Amino acid sequence: LVSQAIEKEPAPERPALVSVATHMPTARKYDYLVVGCGFAGSVLAERLASQHGARVLMLDKRDHIAGNAYDEKDAAGILYHKYGPHIFHANSDEIVSYLSQFTEWRPYEHKVLASVRDQLVPIPINRTTLNMLFNAGLKNDEEAAAFLASRAEPVKDIRTSEDVVINAVGRELYELFFRGYTRKQWGLDPSELDKQVTSRIPTRTNTDDRYFNDVHQIMPLEGYTRMFERMLDHPLIDKSLGTDFRDVRDEVNAAHIIYTGPIDEYFDWKFGKLPYRSLRFVHSTIDKEEFQPVAVVNYPSPDIPYTRISEYKHLTGQVHPQTSITLEYPAAEGDPYYPIPREENQRLFKQYEALADATPGVTFVGRLATYRYYNMDQIVGQALSTFRKMDAARASTKGS
Ligand code: FAD
Ligand code: UDP
Repeated sequence: LVSQAIEKEPAPERPALVSVATHMPTARKYDYLVVGCGFAGSVLAERLASQHGARVLMLDKRDHIAGNAYDEKDAAGILYHKYGPHIFHANSDEIVSYLSQFTEWRPYEHKVLASVRDQLVPIPINRTTLNMLFNAGLKNDEEAAAFLASRAEPVKDIRTSEDVVINAVGRELYELFFRGYTRKQWGLDPSELDKQVTSRIPTRTNTDDRYFNDVHQIMPLEGYTRMFERMLDHPLIDKSLGTDFRDVRDEVNAAHIIYTGPIDEYFDWKFGKLPYRSLRFVHSTIDKEEFQPVAVVNYPSPDIPYTRISEYKHLTGQVHPQTSITLEYPAAEGDPYYPIPREENQRLFKQYEALADATPGVTFVGRLATYRYYNMDQIVGQALSTFRKMDAARASTKGS
């Protein structure tokens, strides 16, 4: 495990790769104000500028573009992800070919190990996991399936994240791999979370040790930030970084707003706070070439305060005599990173969504504004489909 010394090391402060606008260009008239320079905002800004010839102003309260996918070099010159490890995976050719306009790719199949009973074993649980943990000697898919079936506790109506796992692998494996991790990550028991959360993790009877099943498993060759820089390098796109929409909402002159921040914040928390889960990232550089055998090691034990440790060189392929890692400590307060999938939150979101639908001139898109636990590819898909709708509406206005 990581020594306390690592945690004490302060994360290096690095200058942003993109220059920060010092003045909000308020005098100018824009077709669109895009709030947030993450995937949702950037895809729409790019599409509207390049396809509609629209004049776009983008804001982000952070001093950089790329949202949570932002990466930069740290003090040691190692490319790391400021907001935790981002691994690109997708099944849609359309989404990959859209992004391929702005980056080349490096093939990368994500592997994760879990630290369980003093061993590092594959997660998702597969045949290797079972053989390592139980010395089960399972030789093929059928034997592994029978082994799991003998432990699984069938749940008729699978509704919670506990049901999903108990139904697939039984209580012992649930407690070893899922219960502690989930309680730390979400501050809730799996029985209090929608089934979609743990359904993200499959159970396998073969020895496939990849984290994802997707057709495309790739990383932007020069990093995410570089890809965003190319996406937003358009004469019709202005950016004002380090600018909070709340401070300038009455000053900007734009015909339409695309909003990708938290939806409850847009409406001044009118119906109450919509819960989002946060994380504290502790970055450090270690004076050796490799820290751990794979990019991510999960720590499901309730006795360890962080959920996972990521080592970036595995993701990026960078060769360097040192290595940089990030520990993730879940937190109730802080930047909103995860919408929390549970029924009561969805009900509250629906109230905000109804208000959003009744608010002309504003389009809500992205993980925070649509309160969806979406991956990067899904957000790109959501933004492209939003653009298609805007495109169709524009065509019908022109035609009429
Ligand atoms: P964001 O990237 O959050 O962008 C929203 C932007 O809006 C932010 O930059 C924010 O600063 C800005 N903003 C908010 N409010 C305001 C305001 N009032 N004024 C100005 N600006 C504002 N996805 C994957 O596919 N693979 C992964 O491996 C993966 N790993 C992840 C790991 C972690 C720890 C997290 C938190 C997420 C991960 N994701 C991953 C999900 C991925 O980050 C999101 O799907 C994606 O970044 C969402 O893009 P977005 O544009 O909707 O939101
Ligand atoms: N999970 C778990 N143990 C693990 C991996 C995942 O309990 O070793 C659960 C946990 O609730 C987590 C969810 O599955 O939040 C989804 O995992 P994923 O790795 O997809 O989370 P993300 O990368 O979005 O943080």
